[in-house]
Amino acid sequence: MSRPNFGIPKGLLVTLKNIIRHPVTVQYPDERLVISRRARGTDIIWNKNTCIACRACERACPTKAISIDVSRGEDKKLKVDRFQIDFGTCIACGLCVESCPVEDALYMSYSYERAVYRREDLISSDDELLPGEGKQPSGYAHPEVEKTLTLQTLLLDKDREDSQ
Ligand code: SF4
Ligand code: SF4
Repeated sequence: MSRPNFGIPKGLLVTLKNIIRHPVTVQYPDERLVISRRARGTDIIWNKNTCIACRACERACPTKAISIDVSRGEDKKLKVDRFQIDFGTCIACGLCVESCPVEDALYMSYSYERAVYRREDLISSDDELLPGEGKQPSGYAHPEVEKTLTLQTLLLDKDREDSQ
């Protein structure tokens, strides 16, 4: 006598379970999670007013994505003539931010979208790197910024919120 085959009901049970299960994904870009407060984003924010032109960030960069020209002003102090970052080669390691000796001169950004059509559009210089509207510094290596940001949304938290 042949043994009963439970393959089909078992398969249907798996399908039913997954139909009623809460989704583990979000519908990006309509739905967005809050990223880590210490995220190393797709931009770097440079504060021209506090930068002392030491070039420590340039030396620390493992991919040579940063290039800085400096000169001496009339007061004999070093000043930056050109500060450029190629985000096409930047690997978002954060070493430039960590190596900066000035507390508020360099920040990783909190953004995670930087899609462009041309590679040259990934190069940013001088004014394009300055803090401004829509440029939120990340708390990476900056605990004073981290304290001001919202806690990261974990999918676990999202499930809890939805079930309340
Ligand atoms: S994050 Fe890393 S790769 Fe990018 S510019 Fe800074 S040091 Fe270079
Ligand atoms: S390490 Fe900091 S202070 Fe020195 S050049 Fe880079 S941004 Fe300016």
